[in-house]
Amino acid sequence: MEYKLSFRQYHKALMKNKLMGLSCPRCGAVTCPPQMSCRSCTAYDLEITELSGRGKITTFTTITVAPEGRESEAPYIVVLVELEEGPWIMGNLYDLDPSRADLSLIGKQVELGCRVFPGDRYSDGPMARPAFRFA
Ligand SMILES: [Zn+2]
Repeated sequence: MEYKLSFRQYHKALMKNKLMGLSCPRCGAVTCPPQMSCRSCTAYDLEITELSGRGKITTFTTITVAPEGRESEAPYIVVLVELEEGPWIMGNLYDLDPSRADLSLIGKQVELGCRVFPGDRYSDGPMARPAFRFA
């Protein structure tokens, strides 16, 4: 069994501001980030699809003490976004001063761009991370 969409392919697309996922011809669900099987019905015969990158914030947190390797980024906002196509993905929100983040963020519409970071001591070179801005 092999991955239809590997993390390497997903990451490479993200570096070009493209969000890729997998759609399920059996039940219609979209899976993102990529997994081996459909997040809804566990089917394996998935098709690679490009997602809009648009969605709404379902929850968030502000990181003030960053993990090792990301200290210089703190403080920053991490959001969980429900994409228009259904899946929920995590990313950073860059449109707002982290000291101003409050519960009014929940439900706000956002769209994806990507940010490329130099990578930390644990990563294999530059890493793209989903980054959101207000739509
Ligand atoms: Zn399915």
